[in-house]
Amino acid sequence: MRTEEARPVRLADYRPPDWQVDTVDLDIALDPTATRVRAKLNLRPSADGGPPAPLTLDGEGLVLRSIALDGTALSPEQYVATADRLTIAQPPQGPFALEIETVLDPSANTELSGLYRSGTIYCTQCEAEGFRRITYFLDRPDVMAVYTTRIEATKAQAPVLLANGNLIAAGDIAGTDCHFAVWHDPFPKPSYLFAMVGGNLACVEGRFRTMSGRDVTLRIYVEPGKESRCGHAMASLKRAMRWDETEFGREYDLDIFMIVAVSDFNMGAMENKGLNIFNDKYVLASAETATDADFDRIEAIVAHEYFHNWTGNRITCRDWFQLCLKEGLTVFRDQEFTADLRSRAVERISDVRALRAHQFDEDAGPLAHPVRPAQYHEINNFYTTTVYEKGAEVVRMLKTLLGAQKFRAGMDLYFTRHDGRAATVEEFVQCFADVSSADLAQFMLWYSQAGTPEVVATGSHDAARKSYRLDLVQTVPASPDQPSKEPMVIPLAIGLVGADGRDLPLKLSEGATPDRAVLTLSKPAQSFVFADIAAPPVLSLNRGFSAPIKLVVNQSADELRFLATRDGDAFNRWQAFQTLATQLLVENAKALRTGGTARTESRLTDALRAVLADGTLEPAFVALMLTVPGEADIAREIGRDVDPAAVFAARAGLRARVGGDLGAELLERYGSLAQTGPYAVDAASVGRRSLRNTCLDLLVATGHRDSICLAARQYHAADNMTDRMAALSALSLCDVPERGEALEDFYGRYRGDPLIIDKWFSLQAVIPEPGTLDRIKALTRHGAFSFANPNRVRALIHAFALGNHKEFNRPDGAGYDFVADTVLALDGKNPQLAARLLSAFKSWRVLEPARRQRAHASLMHVAIAYSLSPDVSDIARRALSEN
Ligand SMILES: [Zn+2]
Repeated sequence: MRTEEARPVRLADYRPPDWQVDTVDLDIALDPTATRVRAKLNLRPSADGGPPAPLTLDGEGLVLRSIALDGTALSPEQYVATADRLTIAQPPQGPFALEIETVLDPSANTELSGLYRSGTIYCTQCEAEGFRRITYFLDRPDVMAVYTTRIEATKAQAPVLLANGNLIAAGDIAGTDCHFAVWHDPFPKPSYLFAMVGGNLACVEGRFRTMSGRDVTLRIYVEPGKESRCGHAMASLKRAMRWDETEFGREYDLDIFMIVAVSDFNMGAMENKGLNIFNDKYVLASAETATDADFDRIEAIVAHEYFHNWTGNRITCRDWFQLCLKEGLTVFRDQEFTADLRSRAVERISDVRALRAHQFDEDAGPLAHPVRPAQYHEINNFYTTTVYEKGAEVVRMLKTLLGAQKFRAGMDLYFTRHDGRAATVEEFVQCFADVSSADLAQFMLWYSQAGTPEVVATGSHDAARKSYRLDLVQTVPASPDQPSKEPMVIPLAIGLVGADGRDLPLKLSEGATPDRAVLTLSKPAQSFVFADIAAPPVLSLNRGFSAPIKLVVNQSADELRFLATRDGDAFNRWQAFQTLATQLLVENAKALRTGGTARTESRLTDALRAVLADGTLEPAFVALMLTVPGEADIAREIGRDVDPAAVFAARAGLRARVGGDLGAELLERYGSLAQTGPYAVDAASVGRRSLRNTCLDLLVATGHRDSICLAARQYHAADNMTDRMAALSALSLCDVPERGEALEDFYGRYRGDPLIIDKWFSLQAVIPEPGTLDRIKALTRHGAFSFANPNRVRALIHAFALGNHKEFNRPDGAGYDFVADTVLALDGKNPQLAARLLSAFKSWRVLEPARRQRAHASLMHVAIAYSLSPDVSDIARRALSEN
């Protein structure tokens, strides 16, 4: 390990800025290798009186051309400028204007942070600390200023010039082949929300009339020729704008709202004020090019970025420790939006599956951190599933604890009290305390304690007293820097289900019966006794996944099968089946690891048969019921000495068994769900396709010839990408000639379209066969692949490391070596992308000893490498730490 270690940034060290910037005037002359940036900052001291504090501005890799204070050039002894800092030791007493001119090279910017080029397009990415790569600035979110941005460029190179806010002037520059545009954003914002774009872009335009009757122009800018693929993003944007008005009373504030799609982008999308910049993967869609899942993701991400206009932009974060304040809250809002537009049960199950597959593993491993971390070495590494998805769960629990009305009142208070300011988590939670007079001090532990709480529930019925007693015990596991934990406030939605499948009335023997059938567990151990329960009920706890916990209930397989078919709560119906299947899979994985054989369970498939036959259930829900728990779910339940090959074999065996046992029923449903009309992406059509393709997938899992042929036929006959990809994806898991033919055909059909070829890369990356690693290495030399484009790298290499548990965890360690070498090769060019890839090692400690040793060796290989970026060295150090 390298000995010198950068000092962490700590929440406890926060100090308000000594200086504020009221206005920023930028004048940017675009040039591929020498872009000139003039910035005029109107500064004032934060506090009145006393000697002025030194002014220190952040920079990164900047070249200073000139500097002037109130119109007079500064002499060299009046300031110190390095590539990474500009200091004026003795600034004037009162407000002053600082003019700084810098030059930068957008073409050389491979980190894709600051101002860079994506193809021929100039674009920016400033969150978290990219603005300091454009000009010297107080680059921290609690410095909020009003920006005016003038951009000039040659008309040939950049016919479109965009920045935040409203366009206030534009025109040609006389005597040159250049033109300019001036944009003004009247809303104060932190520098991370600055954006500008220049280039040759086509545009699709729409209109939206806000709740108060103002007309807003909507524009989506894409590569010329891709306009026809913007319809879904535009429709999604309008739905999001309306939903935020009706559900939260939030209206859009500028005259124009723009989205720009670029092909080189480190993230999914960025919520820059009035000028969102998107990874084109999350904008472009048509029936022929995108799957239903792509359509869903586009709708959710367009909505997410739009919702940030209030939760993130109008009210921003005081510092980066408060990242969950904008992200957790905005994820909660986009999840609610999707639930309202589509199916609430299906959305909830999908969200929880993702939470468990990613966040629970992160929370249980060496990279665990609280929703609001107390310190960081590299903020770019905290755009995590814990901050986003667990952060959203914390907001959801507030709503569950307070009820919908008080939750909305708390949100309203937050919007009025903090509008135009940079806020903290404490200030957010205080709004809910103020409207409800609830004491939320203990609830704050959800923001500061890492680890997934475990609740053990034991129910017992007393026939003589006609009562039902529920004993609850909670523990929170140790996590890095947090060996012992306090008990949390855990809202548990509950139902006691009678023999007829109906919920029994709930009446606590002592104390007030809670509203909304939600128990609040706040002590290490607590008991609740329900009166007037004549016969033993079946317990349905943590309904709707009311708390992000691991729940252990002493329930028999009979009770779980009863809940799987009868529970009135759709989430717990699904959960009961998951629990049953996971128990069987854990047992089988252990047996297979020690050379035993997998057990079969006909009652499990009987329960699924009943679900498949139930015509009252939504098809999308049935599809989720039929989906066998993932490898990460099984591994997490096993907990230690995990053998990923045995886990894979157990899961594949169960899938084949379900496909075989229910063959006739699956085939019948597959036929009856065939598409009749034209392709549509409404919830009903999507659900129908989802179930039909799940049936196909289970049939193909048996490996039977006729099922393989069925999939091959669907592949060739499909008139939309969803059905074509589903067939190809099912085929790609089988070593049959049809797979090779279909993959070749797919490449031939879509070779000109990088976003579709990404799907082709990903499918090959997750083939669970020993030849996959060599295949991937060969694909890195394919003409369509590029290490410079994050989408390509994610499609091939991240898909392998995160989605192919069996082959990434090869017993010979070659999967780890390949990923480690790729991290090192990427680090010099794009550290954020490299660090994200390295976090695929987040669960290495739970592996069986031989693999654990090989993973450790690969991590060490990265850790001792010379001149690592802060991003990668931070992940390597934490992944290797012994707590
Ligand atoms: Zn966000």
